[in-house]
Amino acid sequence: MRRHRRAKIVATVGPASSAPEMLKALFLAGVDTFRLNFSHGEQEDHAKVHAAIRKLEQEVNRPIGILMDLQGPKIRVGTLRDGKIAVEAGETIRFVLTGAEGDRTSIPLPHKEIFAAVAPGHDLLIDDGRVRVRVTGPGDDFIDAKAIVGGTISNHKGVNLPGTVLDLSPLTAKDRADLEFGLKLGVDWVAMSFVQKPSDVIEARGLIGERAGLMAKIEKPAALERIDDIIQLCDAIMVARGDLGVEIPHEDVPGRQKELVRACRLAVKPVIVATQMLDSMVATPTPTRAEVSDVATAIYDGADAVMLSAESASGRYPREAVEMMDRIIHSTEQHKMYRSIVEATQPGEEQTPPHAVATAAADLASVVHAAAIVAYTSSGTSAARVARKRPSLPILAITPSREVSRRLCLLWGAHSVLSPDVQSYEEMVQRATTFARQEEFARQGDLLVVVAGIPFAQAGTTNNLRVVTVGAPD
Ligand code: PGA
Ligand code: MN
Repeated sequence: MRRHRRAKIVATVGPASSAPEMLKALFLAGVDTFRLNFSHGEQEDHAKVHAAIRKLEQEVNRPIGILMDLQGPKIRVGTLRDGKIAVEAGETIRFVLTGAEGDRTSIPLPHKEIFAAVAPGHDLLIDDGRVRVRVTGPGDDFIDAKAIVGGTISNHKGVNLPGTVLDLSPLTAKDRADLEFGLKLGVDWVAMSFVQKPSDVIEARGLIGERAGLMAKIEKPAALERIDDIIQLCDAIMVARGDLGVEIPHEDVPGRQKELVRACRLAVKPVIVATQMLDSMVATPTPTRAEVSDVATAIYDGADAVMLSAESASGRYPREAVEMMDRIIHSTEQHKMYRSIVEATQPGEEQTPPHAVATAAADLASVVHAAAIVAYTSSGTSAARVARKRPSLPILAITPSREVSRRLCLLWGAHSVLSPDVQSYEEMVQRATTFARQEEFARQGDLLVVVAGIPFAQAGTTNNLRVVTVGAPD
């Protein structure tokens, strides 16, 4: 079973989609990687979904990616005596460092790191930025602030501090417990929320090692300042536009999206564009024209994947949302201007042998009108280097590692196949033609360009190129 599009679809699982038959419907409609959002639900719920996806994987005989998303150090106000307070612009309010109930002169903010870090002029954004207050008088255990944009502050609403670098561990006690749980289940990717600096990624890598791919969600301005180092240290990036759009001005998000996608293509790391892509489909069976255009823009930008959040997790039309995304990607990739736009945003070449070989594979395949590029890839890197070129031909990625075959469910253009038993180069070439036929990429007489790293076991080498003709079925 092959998909006739190159960009991937990630769908968040929630109450609207956690039933095994719904997961199957969503996979058939186009989901390549499922996201388990640990900001919601119990560990046991996630374990059930995980098991259902693994069962589905066997049933459909295709690798399926599973991404666990850690909640991260999300800051929230505590409990108010009346449940909420109305704040008017110009009014002065006080936050206090307490776990107890409070009112407008003692709004509880049970996060001591904030009190240590805020300075006059810093803003606190409450409830996705609906209320904005500016710090006038910070103290050890209180913060006086003047409302710039008034509104209602109610219990446990989220707080964003765009201008403040907080001395917070990027992984809370809950994150650490969830992480161990998820790694034991065998998730393919771990996404870290609210990454601020390179050392956050290093800390997570220390716990995860190579047990899963590590994805940094970019949703803080501080992360943008150190973005090149952060991309180098992780395995993938999510453009987390929900929180990013609270922390930086709305109008700056599209440009940042383009920068991040390009930086990831340059660094050969997959990138997901996420949040509110088809948001109105939470409640209605059709999206707005602007949302359709947003998904298409991410595809023209060259993103590896686009993501559904509430649309698939808690919306009324999860399947329709996946179908819509599939159709938008398909149509965009078929459009006559697609190639020229994606090629125009191609990052500069890297002058190293592995890159040159991957680039040559893509060029050669198009010159000889090959049916597909076959990348034999032990770590996934050879396939990613070819994908970076965004070639016009399909990429068939053959890997001996089940984990890699699943992680490749996030990579642009890659159709991964597991083949654990390849011993020699000749055998690999043989496999390439067999799989290309079997997976409906090529027929007898078609050409394939096979790219690999030799010796096989050595990850990260891409040094071998061959043109082969697909023979008759055995
Ligand atoms: P979230 O992350 O859905 O976990 O908040 C994505 C985002 O902020 O865009
Ligand atoms: Mn977020």
